[in-house]
Amino acid sequence: MKFQELNLIPALLQALNEVGYETPTPIQAQSIPALLEGRDLFGCAQTGTGKTAAFALPILQAIQATKQTDKSKTIKALILAPTRELAIQIGENIADYSKHLSVKHAVIFGGVSQHPQTDALRRGLDILVATPGRLLDLMQQGLISLNSIEYFVLDEADRMLDMGFINDIKKVIAKLPAKRQSLFFSATISPEINKLAQTLLKDPAFVKVTPISSTAELVAQSVYYVNKEDKRALLRHILKNPEVEHALVFTRTKHGADKIVKELKKVGINAEAIHGNKSQNARERALNGFKNRTIRVLVATDIASRGIDVDQLSHVINFELPEVAETYVHRIGRTGRAGHQGIALSFCSNDEISYLKSIRKLINKDIQIVESHPFLGKL
Ligand code: AMP
Repeated sequence: MKFQELNLIPALLQALNEVGYETPTPIQAQSIPALLEGRDLFGCAQTGTGKTAAFALPILQAIQATKQTDKSKTIKALILAPTRELAIQIGENIADYSKHLSVKHAVIFGGVSQHPQTDALRRGLDILVATPGRLLDLMQQGLISLNSIEYFVLDEADRMLDMGFINDIKKVIAKLPAKRQSLFFSATISPEINKLAQTLLKDPAFVKVTPISSTAELVAQSVYYVNKEDKRALLRHILKNPEVEHALVFTRTKHGADKIVKELKKVGINAEAIHGNKSQNARERALNGFKNRTIRVLVATDIASRGIDVDQLSHVINFELPEVAETYVHRIGRTGRAGHQGIALSFCSNDEISYLKSIRKLINKDIQIVESHPFLGKL
């Protein structure tokens, strides 16, 4: 399958060519035709599958088609994302795809001054990418109206519910015009998710790709048994290997993340932390440095890491194993993207053995144990 076979307009094909996409990913191949027909969609897919292009391309194409006749500057598409990182990421992707179109977009999120965002709204735009809190805030101030929305995307619905956004989402949905095309994405499906999807979608096409437990296929996974107090020494040891070019390290706590960064910096390793206590500016700086490879190691907590999208990230390191097995799959899904081989290393101390067991059960596969390292722990 080629993008040319998906009935996309030349201006989009050219942009895809420029960002280096050669073939559609499965979710793109399955969703784009249904969306171009105007159908609603329930997409069961997580980040890393190419879902952003799957929803953004048909919406861009539909809006571009009206540009000759419709000169209004009202918002036609609303994309709701749970975190600012993800919202920014979606905005960046849309900027790439819409390079040769006259479709305008903006991204709004909380934690920063609203003025640059309201300026963009005033200038007029077609597509708004938003996190729920700031969206409702600006709606209440009368600065945003959803009356002219024709396309609505709810991205990472499961994460939205986890983060307690259900009431905010309901408030937004209540303001949407009845006549619209709705798209709903979630990495996991639960009764709650189904209920929410039903309130939103009409006769949706259903597309499911790489179920959560099989996304790990492309990633080489191994586990290091290590005593808790030796974990930082083990990390430094692993980072001595120049093959670990670019690593995303996950920690359970913000404090733990800061401590690791401090130690790594001491031994001359360029590292930064990204977590909820950091200012928006500091987070963006760290993320950009990591993306352009001036920062070799990014240490993140799970919530902060949502939406981190780095091409060809070589290593994910679980400094601590997550309590929830699905989180492990989300984490290691940050590497091994778009067909690249990735490597995931996990540190497991005595108190984490039960987490390792449930991870093995979920992914239904053994994880290789590395025994030849200088900090092998007693279990
Ligand atoms: P997403 O799941 O939308 O976050 O996309 C994951 C990553 O895959 C992003 O870095 C995209 O730029 C990239 N990507 C999306 N579609 C394709 C494609 N068809 N070919 C290559 N890379 C892609």
